[in-house]
Amino acid sequence: MARVALVTGGTRGIGAAIATGLKEAGYAVAANYAGNDDKARAFTDETGIKAFKWSVADYEACKAGIVQVEDEIGPVDVLINNAGITRDAMFHKMTPEQWHEVIGTNLTGVFNMTHCAWPGMRSRKFGRVITISSINGQKGQAGQANYSAAKAGDLGFTKALAQEGARAGITVNAICPGYIGTEMVRAIDEKVLNDRILPQIPVGRLGEPEEVARCVKFLASDDAGFITGATITANGGQFFV
Ligand code: NDP
Repeated sequence: MARVALVTGGTRGIGAAIATGLKEAGYAVAANYAGNDDKARAFTDETGIKAFKWSVADYEACKAGIVQVEDEIGPVDVLINNAGITRDAMFHKMTPEQWHEVIGTNLTGVFNMTHCAWPGMRSRKFGRVITISSINGQKGQAGQANYSAAKAGDLGFTKALAQEGARAGITVNAICPGYIGTEMVRAIDEKVLNDRILPQIPVGRLGEPEEVARCVKFLASDDAGFITGATITANGGQFFV
């Protein structure tokens, strides 16, 4: 029987590429999203992947969401924590709301989803937890103290949980993408992109969402069974840990 993969924020951007890539690789895939119904509907129509709406920032909603996915698709073997937001501001202007929203989705959301999927993975003695962190969690980014803190937190979470999951057959890994050509990044002014961003990337181009999806596919596979607590850095050479 096909393994079941649940991708949070799986209806657009990097998450959509991950969900599609996993479906092509033979997984039964569920995609979660927060509120953009039009995008979710269009994604489901195009791919046949069912979309489920709840906020990863809400623990009870995550619990109910996983039950719904398990009822409709099957027990979650592979969890991709991809949902993420930005609320950028220089620190002296950052509001507590901007801080808490980003921590709530990008860090607590990862706790919420993983905590709800974990008991099932433990009882079945198999699991894959893959979290999409960011280059900015590795190096820090001005204007993103909230985002950098959350994404760095995801890496600490991954390393700690890898040690707990190992004996239960669960691997826990992270991916740190650099600039990926999603709608958000492609919307950046062309001059800023060409003069300021691309020169920072040694390979001279943005990454593609499918390039992140291929990292996920590898970490989810049986071939990656000995890899846990690891971070794959996919940033075109922009930053080395
Ligand atoms: P997008 O903004 O394109 O998509 C975000 C997705 O997350 C959407 O499906 C959105 O749902 C969902 N989402 C947002 N908040 C929640 C929530 N509270 N609960 C459930 N789903 C939620 O993001 P990207 O594809 O650009 O980024 C994906 C991940 O990759 C993020 O974690 C991001 O931080 C990380 N990343 C991105 C990089 C880039 O260059 N793009 C670089 C490095 C890391 P809805 O459609 O309903 O709003």
